[in-house]
Amino acid sequence: MTPKYTSRMSRRGFLAGTAAGAGLIALHPYSARAATNQAHLRIMETTDIHVHVYPYDYYADKPSDTVGLARTATLIDGVRAEATNTMLVDNGDFLQGNPLGDYMAYEKGMKEGDVHPVIAAMNALGVEVSTLGNHEFNYGLSFLEKSLAGAKFPVVSANVVKTEGADPTKDKTLIPPYVILKKEITDGSGEKHTINIGFIGAVPPQIMLWDRHNLEGKVKTRDIVSTMAAYIPEMKEKGADIIIALSHSGIDSADHVEGAENASVPLGRVEGIDAIMTGHQHLVFPSPTFANMKEVDIKAGTLGGKPAVMGGFWGSHMGLIDLMLERDGNQWKVLSAETEARPIYLRGEDRKVTPTVASEQYILDAVKPEHEATLA
Ligand code: MN
Ligand code: MG
Repeated sequence: MTPKYTSRMSRRGFLAGTAAGAGLIALHPYSARAATNQAHLRIMETTDIHVHVYPYDYYADKPSDTVGLARTATLIDGVRAEATNTMLVDNGDFLQGNPLGDYMAYEKGMKEGDVHPVIAAMNALGVEVSTLGNHEFNYGLSFLEKSLAGAKFPVVSANVVKTEGADPTKDKTLIPPYVILKKEITDGSGEKHTINIGFIGAVPPQIMLWDRHNLEGKVKTRDIVSTMAAYIPEMKEKGADIIIALSHSGIDSADHVEGAENASVPLGRVEGIDAIMTGHQHLVFPSPTFANMKEVDIKAGTLGGKPAVMGGFWGSHMGLIDLMLERDGNQWKVLSAETEARPIYLRGEDRKVTPTVASEQYILDAVKPEHEATLA
């Protein structure tokens, strides 16, 4: 069967998060419809958080309703509360981008055993896998290494390479190129199954220019699309039922241009990739921003034919890809999909900002000492 994709970009009556609102949410049709040997899996994305955990504008030194992982967390926990199968992934650019990040890099520093506050927040939130964004390299490889050491989740990136091999799969990569996570899911008749979900990551190869002084002589980069494509057969061989691309890369030309910064559209054409988490551009997909582009379908929420999402930046949106999975023999495959970027705030005609959710206190608590030290 040809997979069917639709997006919910215009559905506004669907905002979760507040205790009062949560009870009003109807079960997603996929959960209601899933038959025996079918399962509804919701993959949630945060991207380009840039150390924005508190809903706070450090430059203006005042609270802000347009940023903050503590707010996105409320959307995420709202989806989890709907009792379907869920996963949470982050798409990179978490470590740098506000005074809290600079405070950690230039003032406090990272000692052995320290957990970086944004990593602490991601741990608390239950991020299950992440990839590197280009800004992860801004403070150098040693700082990055110390920061990643505190993560309770795997971080993958296939195209940052310490030693190049004959093809990407023979490379010695800076961090693992991919991971295959075993996930227990419940099907439409309430039966539990274990599904193998592969996650592969990549970053714009341009980090070699943008962070030359940190990276030259230490690592090299490869093309996003051809590198991910090279690993797919190996991931399938190792048992991946479905494969999700963590593409810290935006939405641009449909042509595969070697070394392109924003390669998520041709990535969609790679056989074996089932869904694409995008980011880096600090934009929202699906949205009219990407109307009338080749192989970009803002109604279906697809790039190169595959379901995709881009969850804004600084926590502004939670990306959500709903997958209807079906067991085909011993393997699970994607039957249909819907994608949505769900905002933490709405902007009225008068430009006035109305938050859709409050902050999760446990996420604020995870970074409170460093947040306060940054203010001081
Ligand atoms: Mn970014
Ligand atoms: Mg970026």
